[in-house]
Amino acid sequence: MILKTFNLKNEVIVGRLLKGKDLILELTKICEENNVVNGIIEGIGALEYVTIGYYDQKNKEYIVNRIDKPMEVLSLKGNVSLKDNKPFIHAHIVLGDRKGQVFGGHLNEGSSVFAFEYCIIPFEKGFFVREYDKETSLYLWTM
Ligand code: ZN
Repeated sequence: MILKTFNLKNEVIVGRLLKGKDLILELTKICEENNVVNGIIEGIGALEYVTIGYYDQKNKEYIVNRIDKPMEVLSLKGNVSLKDNKPFIHAHIVLGDRKGQVFGGHLNEGSSVFAFEYCIIPFEKGFFVREYDKETSLYLWTM
């Protein structure tokens, strides 16, 4: 199902985050400062500790998992849309530990950057808005 089509903007925002910053809050701040209200986000790096979520579809609530050890960020993928008139990042993250074991989930606040390189690909115009969806109890893109 295609909801909308977008052109890519000519500019791509690339950078790195400073040690100790909260991953999703910093990425959100960058979107706010650069007026990015829709687009794609990706990145790799390492975190000092991580807070991820798993959505329990039956009980319609997030289970929060905190991993209190350094982890590699093997892949972060996400998107930016509008929620409550502000840029909102929905991102999922794949993590690896020192043994190469892989974990992942929905990225929450409470993840501290050790080093992180990101790329934000804004779309040219138009935007998606997130609104509460009764069926899933999630804030999803409006149709
Ligand atoms: Zn998610």
